[in-house]
Amino acid sequence: MIIPSIDPEVRRIADRIIQSGKKAFLVGGAVRDSFLKRPVIDYDIATDATPEECMMLFPFAIPTGIKHGTITIISRSRRYKIEITTLRKEADYSDGRHPDSVTFVDDITQDLSRRDFTINAMAIDLVRNIFIDPFDGKKDLKNKIIRAVGNPIERFQEDGLRTIRAIRFSAQLEFAIEPNTLAAITSCSSNLSRVSAERIRDEFSKIILTAKPSIGLRILSETGLIEEIIPELKDCKGIPQPNHCEKDVYEHLLSTLDAVIPDNLEEERLLTLRLAALLHDIGKPVCYRTENETVSFYRHEIESERIARQALMRLKYPNRVIDKVCHLVRYHMFDYEPNWTDAAIRRFIARVGFSTIPDLFALRLADTTATTGKPISWPALSEFKARIDRILEEKQALSLKDLAINGENLARIGIPRGKQMGEVLSELLDTVLEDPALNTKEKLLEIAKAKYFGRFD
Ligand code: ATP
Ligand code: MG
Repeated sequence: MIIPSIDPEVRRIADRIIQSGKKAFLVGGAVRDSFLKRPVIDYDIATDATPEECMMLFPFAIPTGIKHGTITIISRSRRYKIEITTLRKEADYSDGRHPDSVTFVDDITQDLSRRDFTINAMAIDLVRNIFIDPFDGKKDLKNKIIRAVGNPIERFQEDGLRTIRAIRFSAQLEFAIEPNTLAAITSCSSNLSRVSAERIRDEFSKIILTAKPSIGLRILSETGLIEEIIPELKDCKGIPQPNHCEKDVYEHLLSTLDAVIPDNLEEERLLTLRLAALLHDIGKPVCYRTENETVSFYRHEIESERIARQALMRLKYPNRVIDKVCHLVRYHMFDYEPNWTDAAIRRFIARVGFSTIPDLFALRLADTTATTGKPISWPALSEFKARIDRILEEKQALSLKDLAINGENLARIGIPRGKQMGEVLSELLDTVLEDPALNTKEKLLEIAKAKYFGRFD
């Protein structure tokens, strides 16, 4: 058995534990990912040293979970963290998510037996440099299989999070789920409701960020787990997508999701775009109308925004992410005609906000790719984009802060602060969007007086 080479910093930490007379094992994801030659994000070391003994060895460590026996060291490069956990055996999980008590043990096999999947239950003994694999994880790794350690039903009843983790690993690694494990996910799907929204959200996000997220979404749907995550999605099944090559709105959402390509996007931006893609038409079932055999979804973007906000709040996504996703969903139906004036384009930029435009275009590209089955953009889109870029280069006023006057100037001519001033400012912005030449202090003061006092001096 060839043991993967160990990161030098992790080796140094393990050596310090070993020199104190204790055992050290590399466990969990790092062992799995080293064999798969995937980048290792975080390292887990298991030891028979107690958390207190570990804190003495590494005084700069963070006592992240002393009670559960875990301390954390941030690597010198700050790129990854190393968690050191005291070997443990967990007793009953009467609430389905937290072990009732934790007993520290000095047996690595026992520690591995409480882990979720065979590919996550392998260890490297850093004292003797040998590979420990009591559940045949290496074989499952080779055959690309996700298999629960022990009885899958019992393991999913102990901790419902494992059901979505199985799907997450299957989607991320492109592994199949072993049939008994898969059947147990279905029969234990309701156990996910006992898991905190934050933990579900983190696993769900990892599924959304995979190369082809529809694969994970389909398993979430087939096993019934989606009911505990975004049940609104299933209402989209069977709602026809008129004039499109897709079967129904649900299929359209999955194709749009896959069509958002990562393109080196920073993780949160990709997540935002992918969530917007998944939810952009989720309001269609509510707005579905047929008249003379013509299907319409009038104002579905408003309903979609409402349902998206509700779902993302339930999953406790940060407000920053929720607001961005909802904004994209709200404006995804934007339209453009070549006969639009520059003022119409400025009004569009002012309405959606210029920082949203690249993402709004990326979402539209994914939407049309899904609809047509090919990565083509709608013909006028590049012209629209070029005109927007030109207007942005001209640095014309597009928001209140670009106006040549501010609230202070208006207060000085006697316009009271508050709602009325807000109205005058927004009218001034409309005026300037129509004609940028009016954006001077004198002209705007004169227009403000006329608007507020109904007179010109
Ligand atoms: P990732 O690359 O996403 O970090 P990972 O396998 O390291 O994958 P973690 O969530 O960091 O996943 O957990 C580390 C290890 O702890 C896992 O490999 C597994 O052995 C164990 N583990 C984590 N969560 C559970 C759980 N809910 N039930 C049982 N074992 C778990
Ligand atoms: Mg990890």
